[in-house]
Amino acid sequence: MNLGKSKKIYDEAIKYIPGGVNSPVRAFKSVGTYPIFIKKGHGSKIEDEDGNKYIDYICSWGPLILGHSNEKLLEGIDDILRSGISFGLPTKIEVDMAKLIVESYNGIEMVRMVNSGTEATMSAIRVARGYTGRDKIIKFEGCYHGHNDCLLVKSGSGTITYGIPTSSGVPADIIKNTIVCKYNDLEDVRKTFEKFGEDIAAVIIEPVAGNMGVVPSDKEFLEGLRRITKENGSLLIFDEVITGFRISYGGAGEVYGIEPDMACFGKIIGGGFPVGAYGGKREIMEMVSPIGPVYQAGTLSGNPLAMHIGYRILKVLKENKNIYKELEEKAIMMEEGIRRNIEELNINAKIVRFKSMLTLFFGKGPFKNFDDVQSCDIEMYAKYFNEMLKRGIMLPPAQFEGMFLSAAHTKKDIEYTIKANYEALKVIK
Ligand SMILES: *Cc1c(COP(=O)(O)O)cnc(C)c1O
Repeated sequence: MNLGKSKKIYDEAIKYIPGGVNSPVRAFKSVGTYPIFIKKGHGSKIEDEDGNKYIDYICSWGPLILGHSNEKLLEGIDDILRSGISFGLPTKIEVDMAKLIVESYNGIEMVRMVNSGTEATMSAIRVARGYTGRDKIIKFEGCYHGHNDCLLVKSGSGTITYGIPTSSGVPADIIKNTIVCKYNDLEDVRKTFEKFGEDIAAVIIEPVAGNMGVVPSDKEFLEGLRRITKENGSLLIFDEVITGFRISYGGAGEVYGIEPDMACFGKIIGGGFPVGAYGGKREIMEMVSPIGPVYQAGTLSGNPLAMHIGYRILKVLKENKNIYKELEEKAIMMEEGIRRNIEELNINAKIVRFKSMLTLFFGKGPFKNFDDVQSCDIEMYAKYFNEMLKRGIMLPPAQFEGMFLSAAHTKKDIEYTIKANYEALKVIK
């Protein structure tokens, strides 16, 4: 496999960009190689600068639920682009987009568009604090909510991969109001509320964690969070940046049948453009400037081009709900194939799936929280990643991430992937 051009670009990149990349996981550091620079993508496949082709299970970390360069999203986009890229003034498409999001999600009555998932969670926390007049928040170990100071504590993914429990540069004074509880451990939350209940503005959670590998919440755990937050006058915030419009059109709120007070979105709602959104009950969202005292703004928020793409993607999903059934069928096929391979080759690994999100953990499990996933053999994952790469399969370059399927993945792609998985596991055994 020739990666000469990627290597050359990387050598140049490290001179000008920290680590040569604009987001740490892209550095491929935990799989012991240098970044692969991508040139183009179509459907379920991507092609790198050296012309190697891969079946892509990163899908831009989730946004590309319809695959790369989907025609339905791109039709006529040229005209939209040529009629003005950004105005810093309101446009109708922003209203259409807000309406679609509000109609999709139980409990969300108003929404504000931002430019990333990080901005969405940051703003939601600010609103929750403004609304309740309280400072403390609870987050869970292994959940990632973007790189906001107050949420960058024991936050999974890139931070576990690089062994940074909490980022340097975050003042102790800022995180003193962040309490970290154990995922799927209601007793831990109950005790925390006993001690600090009156000071807790919000509990924020990934209802299905995707940033420590795929680790779903137990239903009773989420129901417990809903009950405890209500009893204590705290807000429950679902971070649906990955799960929103992925695990179903109505996100984890719909799958679990629970209405949070606020929800954060990102990834899919931008279809590959930099978009995020946060929403909540009307009374809560009316705290936001210009009608309320909580300030939040953005020069490019609701950018028309991004909104057109986001609107189209949501519209396609809304009008073709069978996409979710088909995605799950393909994911089940993958899960079962990989499980058979693991059993046949007697590998110490476990495939975890929730809807169309999957992680192959190199450990015995069960995987219920951050401590459980940390027991995985990340060197084994690195070897596995490289064997799969050689076979034309792009997996997330880190153990603690999810694989994402798109509507563009075919049964043939999955069959090929299962076959490659068998060969790769056999080599690394
Ligand atoms: C990706 C992600 C974020 C951050 O979104 P960015 O667009 O990268 O800022 C927040 N929360 C979750 C659950 C995510 O997966």
